[in-house]
Amino acid sequence: MPPVIDVKGLYCRYGATHVLSDITFRVEDGDYVGIVGPNGSGKSTLVRALLGLSSRDEGEIGLFGVPLSEFEDWQQIGYLPQHFNLFTSNFPATVTEVVRLGLLSGKRFPRRISRADTARIDDILEYMGVQDLRRRRIGQLSGGQQQRVLLARAMVNQPRLLILDEPTAALDPETRDRFYSLLAEVNRERNTTILLVTHDSATIGSCASKLLYLDKRLVFYGTFREFCVSSAMTNHFGELAQHQICRLH
Ligand code: ADP
Repeated sequence: MPPVIDVKGLYCRYGATHVLSDITFRVEDGDYVGIVGPNGSGKSTLVRALLGLSSRDEGEIGLFGVPLSEFEDWQQIGYLPQHFNLFTSNFPATVTEVVRLGLLSGKRFPRRISRADTARIDDILEYMGVQDLRRRRIGQLSGGQQQRVLLARAMVNQPRLLILDEPTAALDPETRDRFYSLLAEVNRERNTTILLVTHDSATIGSCASKLLYLDKRLVFYGTFREFCVSSAMTNHFGELAQHQICRLH
């Protein structure tokens, strides 16, 4: 099976400023990868480049064995972008309607919802534990509930890859940890490959199967255990950085 994501020698810049240099890594089917790094280290730029949303200068990107420029099967990828402002309380859509939009985006004209589609929406709402909320307005739910609905929307097309950019920035620590565990469940039970951007290396270390540490270049890519003893990390940040992240586990 080809890697889900295959990046070779990727460089990105905005104007004259280089944001990412010489990034090379592979994500295999079934991986749960946490992308971590300080603010401004290029995490969003990287995931946006993978989705063809930010331009790359040099390098190759493959998705499911297909070069990005030829890739068309976007239904295979669910994306939860950063800065997805949580809905205001009078936002005029119910939970079901928000998830249905995810399904429509994968359809060609005419965009009709079939009975099978309705069953898929019900299934995913139930899986996310928000089925009781389905007639509620999205803006009236808590941040954690809204995030689960957005995850349901990203998953309703049954993508093989989920990409999430700081999905928990607006959540309290407990809700955030629950959300990470829910993603681990999705990864295990549905064999969905996950790429999750976060600046929270300590928590994600215990959930993800691999960590990718960015600081404009790829400082580290491997398991959490390897991360804790990585000389590349020590050389980059000194002993303390790893100690802070790894002592919790
Ligand atoms: P992260 O997600 O790790 O916080 P980003 O990928 O958002 O990092 O940003 C990396 C760098 O690129 C930052 O210095 C940021 O200011 C800059 N940057 C991001 N987006 C743009 C843009 N659209 N135009 C110019 N500079 C940008």
